Amino acid sequence: MTSIFSKIISRDIPADIVYEDEKVIAIKDTNPVAPIHFLVITKTPYISIVDMPNHESVYITAAIKKLANEHGLEDSGFRVITNSGADGGQTVPHLHFHLIGGKTLSHSLA
Ligand code: 5GP
Repeated sequence: MTSIFSKIISRDIPADIVYEDEKVIAIKDTNPVAPIHFLVITKTPYISIVDMPNHESVYITAAIKKLANEHGLEDSGFRVITNSGADGGQTVPHLHFHLIGGKTLSHSLA
């Protein structure tokens, strides 16, 4: 089944795109939990991190670092999360990483 993120990648539905390259797209989350809340998404529709070949993780890492730098998060700090599967709380079955910052975040992760 085509995920909502694949439809964003193909421009079938709109999104606020903050970064894009050959492998990755990053968009603003429609339900942000902090002043900065981006979703860094693989263009290949892997379901979760367990499906992504190790060598492809560099594209995600590079995009996260670029976004953190461009949005002034390097000094203040930020959080990166990827939810995987039911227990992980994943709601969109297309691999994505939450990049969250712009405020002091809670210590609670669960
Ligand atoms: P998950 O729960 O799978 O880790 O995260 C999915 C995220 O995608 C949620 O934070 C949710 O707000 C966001 N989201 C769901 N649908 C859309 C959409 O159509 N556009 C955008 N920009 N974000 C979405």
